[in-house]
Amino acid sequence: MSLLPGQMMQMPLLISSLITHAARHSGDVEIVSRRVEGDLHRYTWAEAELRARKLAQALARLGCQAGDRVGTLAWNGYRHLEIYYGTSGSGLLCHTVNPRLFPQQIAWIINDAADRILCFDLNLLPLVEQIAADCRTVQHFVLLAGRAQLPDQTTIPGLLCYEDMVAAEDGDMTWPTFDETTAAGICYTSGTTGDPKGAVYSHRSTVLHSYAAAMPDAMNLSARDVVLPVVPMFHVNAWGLPYATAMVGCKVVFPGPHLDGKSLYELFEAEQVTFSAGVPTVWMGLLAHMQTHQLKFSSFRCTVIGGAACPASMIDTLVDDFGVEVIHAWGMTELSPLGTLSRLRGKHLGLPKDEQRRLMAKQGKAPYGIDLRIVDGAGAPLPWDGKAAGELMVKGHWVISDYFRTPKSPLQDGWFPTGDVATIDGDGFMQITDRSKDVIKSGGEWISSIALENLAVGHPAVQQAAVISVAHPQWGERPLLTVVLKPGAAVTREALLAFYEGKVPNWQVPNDVIFLPELPQTATGKIQKLRLREAFRNHQWSQPG
Ligand code: AMP
Repeated sequence: MSLLPGQMMQMPLLISSLITHAARHSGDVEIVSRRVEGDLHRYTWAEAELRARKLAQALARLGCQAGDRVGTLAWNGYRHLEIYYGTSGSGLLCHTVNPRLFPQQIAWIINDAADRILCFDLNLLPLVEQIAADCRTVQHFVLLAGRAQLPDQTTIPGLLCYEDMVAAEDGDMTWPTFDETTAAGICYTSGTTGDPKGAVYSHRSTVLHSYAAAMPDAMNLSARDVVLPVVPMFHVNAWGLPYATAMVGCKVVFPGPHLDGKSLYELFEAEQVTFSAGVPTVWMGLLAHMQTHQLKFSSFRCTVIGGAACPASMIDTLVDDFGVEVIHAWGMTELSPLGTLSRLRGKHLGLPKDEQRRLMAKQGKAPYGIDLRIVDGAGAPLPWDGKAAGELMVKGHWVISDYFRTPKSPLQDGWFPTGDVATIDGDGFMQITDRSKDVIKSGGEWISSIALENLAVGHPAVQQAAVISVAHPQWGERPLLTVVLKPGAAVTREALLAFYEGKVPNWQVPNDVIFLPELPQTATGKIQKLRLREAFRNHQWSQPG
């Protein structure tokens, strides 16, 4: 076949082009940040772009070279945004790390990614002091603060001050041009078993994801919006908002570390926020605060809720009581993260309200750039009839093909297996019905059931342990520990739970223990989690909080 070549410019899709565009076309639009120091910081996209260039110069001065990883332990704020662009824009990788993980796990992730630099927020200084000696690859630790906030004494060797680094540069550099498939960032997922795995995003995947995220039937972002990403910048790049907001050139409000209802509400009102995104637990806190104090929003029009299933009652409350449109979305770290969004089509607008709500509570439709399918146990595709449930498989421009430093590709027949079980209806609305991966999602954060089981069997009285996920009114899901004791052994619920103290973060400790004479097993001796989950589906938590 002799094809006729197109005659269009070939420009690589680079992350630097997003902030360059924002600086040039929306240079006076504000970025407002609640700082860890407590005050509000305000500047513009033009200033953000200049400081990102200065940061790129400073990182090069520290010896960073193309492909090096720069780790962050930071909340949502303007300095974190500058690191996003200063690193990726200059050919480095931005590696966001979740500060809520257990310190040893954080150090493990930093070592696995071989971060050369670690930048962190002021209130995370004690955490970094605890892990610094274990971070073998980190050559420089950078405190995201001004000179005045630098501690008089610290155990961190040669601690650098971010503001000094930026101030020492003139910004006289142009963003380099390179292949769009170059790695831009890395984010670890805890996955189903053992150690976390790194998803490595490219410039191309990130820019295409931003396009998709901003589209009208996705997040529907525009330059008229004021966007407050509640979802942390260490959770899959705040779902792409730091990039998509630059693309549309809108005002951004970063909430810093305090995500309680009162702090969020005050910021929403003071900055006239129109759009936000976060996990269900965050909205629960905000709505509870507003209901208690009989408050209303004056500008908020729409929010994306995802990361965990959004309860139908939350959609009702936000839409009916507060006039806020809800876009229920599903995604994964491995998908950058956007996979589907639930937005009604024209033909649905005439449906009765409860039918519309039933669709809105589904995880939704794939945007252009993502393809979905569900398969049976043998890998054969299942029909899109809203009834057949099978493992959800995805492919697309912003789906990983491999995990960092993992030789075996996770793909099956070119599709990424999500570990979620779903139905898809005739209109393409996907609904998650179960999960085949063995993890618990509490308040949007993963808890590894295997890690909790391994610890439990370390207790001298425990013979067998299985941890399952059970629905919880506040956290979505919480871990329930089921155990079989050794013959003649005795231990109380309290003593077993206390056994976890200091071994996992407090929020990962199971909420309850069930003592059983035996655990249900398969023919091959594997514990049947499905049967356990069914048996305790309606477990009443002794402490609902
Ligand atoms: P993560 O990689 O931490 O973003 O987690 C991705 C996983 O979170 C998915 O595979 C689902 O199991 C779960 N998840 C994300 N969004 C939703 C949602 N809207 N409804 C149900 N589960 C979700």
